[in-house]
Amino acid sequence: MGFLSNAAILIHTEVTYSPDFASEVGQKMLREFAAKVRELKSPVYLCIANEELKARLSPLLENATLLPEKSEMSAIRFLFEGNALSHVVVFVGVFPLLDLKLSEKLFSIHTEYRADITYGENLPQGIAPYFVSRDLLESLDIMEAKDEDLSPGGVRAFVEKNINQFHAEVHYEEPDLRLLRLDFSLATLRSAAKTQALFTRIKNLDAPYAQIQPTIDANPELLATFPSYIELEFMSSAEAVSDFSPLKVIQQERHALSKENFYRVLEYLNEGVGDTSVCASGLGEPLEHPDAKDFLTALLDAAQTRYVFVETNGIHLDKIRALAEHPNADKLRVIVFLNSLERYAELSGAPQVSLAEVKANITGLVQALTNAAKNPQEIVYLQTLKVLDNENEIDSLYALAEDLGVTFLLQKYNRYAGLLPERRVSDMTPLERLPCWHLRRDLFIRASGDVALCKQTIDPKKKTSRGNLATHSLSDMWNSQRSDFAANYRNAFPEYLPCAQCDEYFTFNF
Ligand code: SF4
Repeated sequence: MGFLSNAAILIHTEVTYSPDFASEVGQKMLREFAAKVRELKSPVYLCIANEELKARLSPLLENATLLPEKSEMSAIRFLFEGNALSHVVVFVGVFPLLDLKLSEKLFSIHTEYRADITYGENLPQGIAPYFVSRDLLESLDIMEAKDEDLSPGGVRAFVEKNINQFHAEVHYEEPDLRLLRLDFSLATLRSAAKTQALFTRIKNLDAPYAQIQPTIDANPELLATFPSYIELEFMSSAEAVSDFSPLKVIQQERHALSKENFYRVLEYLNEGVGDTSVCASGLGEPLEHPDAKDFLTALLDAAQTRYVFVETNGIHLDKIRALAEHPNADKLRVIVFLNSLERYAELSGAPQVSLAEVKANITGLVQALTNAAKNPQEIVYLQTLKVLDNENEIDSLYALAEDLGVTFLLQKYNRYAGLLPERRVSDMTPLERLPCWHLRRDLFIRASGDVALCKQTIDPKKKTSRGNLATHSLSDMWNSQRSDFAANYRNAFPEYLPCAQCDEYFTFNF
């Protein structure tokens, strides 16, 4: 398999999490990757930030040279400048599912067309390396791009953003698995968990790519590892009920999330992979909860949360202004719903509050974030539903977001599987049905402590929950959701889920 010529191999990874490479399967994955790299019969350079990973991988690649920690581009430049090489083969991460046959195909395209850079456009991370030639340095010099410009996304991301400046060969390989959003580079604990699950099931590791789709088809629940997004309803009610809210048409008891249940959720995050986002949302107004600020502070404190979202009507936004000073305020994402300027009182359901007050609240938060040296445009969003009612106001709402110094978002209207009337301006539903993203990634926890069957099951006249936090374990309830996801993947919809009438399956929470 020594198909490379005049090339060096760079294994570069900046991961800092604690990998489970001491386990039997962890060691097996490292040995598999190292054996394939050895088959390439070219000098290997390791630029690895994680000391444990470095200590475990380098003995498996005996003649590998250890490089001091440097960015991906600096390491590539270092190899070209210190050696008479024509190509560098770059592995960003550790690839136990490396497909050498596909890698050979990419390298032959790279050399045949004398490309600056060659990669598989639709291949998941961790299946094949990318290849760069010495000419890449020349193209970067012409662009006057510094190595820092190519971090943190790395070389490939930079090339993709400036594709016309490079001779890039971008290979497409069937089947196209991009919709599954897979990553087998062990870049995160989630990636490591998924890679391990596939690695232990794939029979022929000589050509793994062709076996990924059939392995997932046989075990779709592998895609649902741990929730990456938890929608946590602080309040089941709201003083101001928006015209687009299901609370307009359903009657439900008023609940406020209890401290016990809040801390049960926080504890559950410890079982995860450290990248779960939590969103204070649901049907009610989260900032009407008396402990809203304390709950959000605890979520920002937690090392296991990736982002902490708040979805609010903005009326009580002043309550959380002080969060701008939180040391982890960069994790905060505040989404203020505003669907109309001309019909604000009517559509927001808040005739007693003026639009000017909401704007002043947003301005106050923006100012507090600016004073705390944070970027308000990364943290505060003005979100507008794309509906018939405000079709002529989108430009004005966008302009308002700009004036306020926040980011504008346009959101799809949710009919809650037929519970609410049709108000969409356009239908963006894909022609072919996809497995539901929400079953795969989200948990929706109601203020009562009930864990919803899914975000659409809110009609109290029907079955709505998998159990309650007080009486059921979250991991059992997640496992029951994983089974529903496996059925949904096969287009078999359980009778208690309104999937057949639902058009939310293709929407994607952060
Ligand atoms: S497709 Fe089914 S599971 Fe997914 S959000 Fe809709 S009703 Fe819920």
